[in-house]
Amino acid sequence: MKENLMFSPKNGFDRLPKEELAEMHAYCRRYMDFMDAAKTEREAVTETIRIAEQYGFKEFKAGMALQPGDRVYANNRGKMIIFAVIGTESLEKGCNITAAHSDSPRLDLKPSPLMEDSELAYFKTHYYGGVKKYQWTMIPLAIHGVVCTQDGAVHTVTVGEDDSDPVFCVTDLLPHLAADQMRKTMAEGVTGENMKILLGSQPMEGEEGDRVKKNVMSLLNEKYGFNEEDLLSAELTMVPAGKCREVGLDRSMMLAYGHDDRVCVYAEFEPMLTMETPTRTAVCVLADKEEIGSVGVSGMESEYFELFMEDLCDTQGVKLRHCLGASTCLSADVSNAYDPLYPEVSDKQNNSRLNYGIALVKYTGSRGKGGASDASSELFNRIRTIFNQENVFWQTGELGKVDQGGGGTVAAYLANRNIDTLDAGVPVLGMHAPLEIVSKLDAYMTMKAMRAFYLAK
Ligand code: MN
Ligand code: MN
Repeated sequence: MKENLMFSPKNGFDRLPKEELAEMHAYCRRYMDFMDAAKTEREAVTETIRIAEQYGFKEFKAGMALQPGDRVYANNRGKMIIFAVIGTESLEKGCNITAAHSDSPRLDLKPSPLMEDSELAYFKTHYYGGVKKYQWTMIPLAIHGVVCTQDGAVHTVTVGEDDSDPVFCVTDLLPHLAADQMRKTMAEGVTGENMKILLGSQPMEGEEGDRVKKNVMSLLNEKYGFNEEDLLSAELTMVPAGKCREVGLDRSMMLAYGHDDRVCVYAEFEPMLTMETPTRTAVCVLADKEEIGSVGVSGMESEYFELFMEDLCDTQGVKLRHCLGASTCLSADVSNAYDPLYPEVSDKQNNSRLNYGIALVKYTGSRGKGGASDASSELFNRIRTIFNQENVFWQTGELGKVDQGGGGTVAAYLANRNIDTLDAGVPVLGMHAPLEIVSKLDAYMTMKAMRAFYLAK
């Protein structure tokens, strides 16, 4: 009686059956490998397709005949991807949809990036997403992206990830000369324009003017065959170099660039590979551009999602809007984990915590819930019932104290399409820092949550 009266969350390690521990570590090993292979939205698309094809996924084409159990994917310009496993029930009854985003905050190169100052060569950058700029100085960075040349070729560029590669860096002032800088606010101490990537210092022999810049350009030309004009149309970005690592003597946590939101991306993706034929069609959307508002041709607001769903509905003669209206969505994005070093920003009772499982977030937004998708009690109850039945550990979450700040996810853009949507995801320490921390238990529980949701009737 006493037990049922009050909600008393328990640390997941006190609840996890011992035999599941090995499974948890094995899942996280696979996730860490995924993280090392997929640091950008393009790489996430390439890597998920590579894995999915090994499990029988085929590229979806409009007009294709589909049977229950069929596995398909649709690739939106190499930056957004949708996977589906066809269910036994008509699409008229709706789908179980999960949505996450595979882009993360980073330093994009400016359209004309190359410059030299005082015999040092730099790439100018323009930061992407919400970053605390001072965190991005004096750490090893790698270049990822593509350069297209006029012969139509798309060159994939990755420098800084292999142990034998050089890395890159944004410099910062020495404390000895930082008296003025240290008096500025943390927002002003390092400026956007100063986020320049140090590229080289060796001048080209026998040249005059900009000799270091010329030397860098000639190295780029030697290795990849492109010139400075090719750089103008390129899409290159700087991300923290290095691999995902275990954290703590107990190895219970993981440190990586971009857990936001690839920890949810992988949790949504992996169960699609091996799950039995579901009753309701399972759809997994991995969108781009969430960090800058879900805009553009590859963001969650793009018509691409409708087009895919419409083509899917056409295979069964079902109206798109009927399918969407009957569908349910888990919008899987990370939440902020309670940090005892900064208790003042959180309402501890409502903040998600490490090791308490997937956080269900009824609403996001800021101030008066501005920009939120506010899930209904009916939906929240349906989801918690599924999780309780399948022994998925869950907790509630809210992004900090009421007037402290806030944020949004892709949830609103799915809800706008008349889909019942609930936010859910993995708690993160140090979100949007170059390296972020999640707990293995929460990452594993989120995967279990997605699997249970896909299979729910
Ligand atoms: Mn996110
Ligand atoms: Mn984010």
